[in-house]
Amino acid sequence: MRITGKPSRRNVLKSLASVTAIASLGGCATAMTKSAGYARPLSRKPFVAPRISHDRIVRVITGLRPFRPQGFVVKREQFDDKTVIHNYGHGGGGITLSWGSSALAVRESMGMTIGEAAVVGGGIMGLTTARLLQDAGWQVTIYTRDVSRHATSNVGAGQWGPTSVFEEGVASKAFEGQYKFAARIAHHAFQNLSGNPNYGISFAENYFLGHEPQEDSYYLRELPELFTSVAHLEPHEHPFPVPYVKRMVSMLIQPATFLRRIRDDFYLAGGKMVVRNFANRSEILSLGETAIFNCTGLGAKALFDDENLVPIKGQLVFMQPDPAIDYLTIGGGTGVTYMFPRRGEILLGGSYQLNDWTTHVEADVTDRIITDNKAIFDNMRV
Ligand SMILES: Cc1cc2nc3c(=O)[nH]c(=O)nc-3n(C[C@H](O)[C@H](O)[C@H](O)COP(=O)(O)OP(=O)(O)OC[C@H]3O[C@@H](n4cnc5c(N)ncnc54)[C@H](O)[C@@H]3O)c2cc1C
Repeated sequence: MRITGKPSRRNVLKSLASVTAIASLGGCATAMTKSAGYARPLSRKPFVAPRISHDRIVRVITGLRPFRPQGFVVKREQFDDKTVIHNYGHGGGGITLSWGSSALAVRESMGMTIGEAAVVGGGIMGLTTARLLQDAGWQVTIYTRDVSRHATSNVGAGQWGPTSVFEEGVASKAFEGQYKFAARIAHHAFQNLSGNPNYGISFAENYFLGHEPQEDSYYLRELPELFTSVAHLEPHEHPFPVPYVKRMVSMLIQPATFLRRIRDDFYLAGGKMVVRNFANRSEILSLGETAIFNCTGLGAKALFDDENLVPIKGQLVFMQPDPAIDYLTIGGGTGVTYMFPRRGEILLGGSYQLNDWTTHVEADVTDRIITDNKAIFDNMRV
């Protein structure tokens, strides 16, 4: 077992502990199911393979990730007597970063007189911004074209991992600092809520599957303290039919549950919601509130002329639920491939189609997602 990140004393001890555990299991391995021999850091249950087939599909959806190679925008801008604070462009990590990025946005209001605030956008960034503003004493109205269940935020797969948020080498060092700050705050906030089942947040083992050796992603290199039980596994330490497997434990957020709950929290704290589509920036600036938070995701491209904002289309296939599945897999296919278990469905991904504004479901993408996931799970050693 190769531990990633800094070989801290804690990691070395954990590594030794699991090696010892595996060695002591060796003698009785033949008396157990094969999967019972794999040391799992979180679940005490053997691995179960999800059943993948076309006739188990319950729904297929798509969404457009609001991506900026330079990274997301949190900044304050003055338009005559209106102060606009932007909070948009979180790519494939907006659920993950929501509380943290929104905390940075609220921090931008420092020095302003606390009163009435408008939040434009009712996705995860709008709702978390609104909640944090309420906690700071503001009276908040959310103005939005789509309520959260129709926003991209309700399409997001929900793994807690700030991935595909910016392009390394394009984003500035200052942005990287902002990103890490947001990730740490967001991790704290989600973990704090994870004990309450009404928020739809849980911890799960994540397995990254590869046909080639895997480099650690930026967030695992730069934020190792936010992920536990991180290790490269040897073939006898996992059941997956690929040579390279990396593991970590992180959170999984069920967007529909989470969004509904924080919307309810927003109403309970006296918030108001107005369904409204803004055709342009002047319409936003004509709102009655002088403090306006721009949480319009991809909408910010046209509303605030951000030419760096581009869509990344993603397609997800939902299968019948299977309560026996309690881990995530990422990778291992011929294209973007992942499997996340949810209470109401097994989610299979995915796709990553840069600059594709279309929103229709593509049958060939569905077929590829099914074929790739089936190849993994039909060949699992369970
Ligand atoms: C397939 C897929 C998988 C993903 N997986 C993950 C994941 O595993 N983990 C993760 O952290 N993130 C994931 N994401 C990314 C995440 O979903 C987004 O980063 C996040 O939802 C962006 O939130 P938002 O609130 O900024 O935008 P949105 O949810 O798009 O909300 C924007 C809001 O602004 C409103 N709006 C826009 N324009 C106007 C206008 N002109 N007038 C009025 N209102 C307007 C919209 O109606 C909407 O309510 C995934 C995304 C996709 C598509």
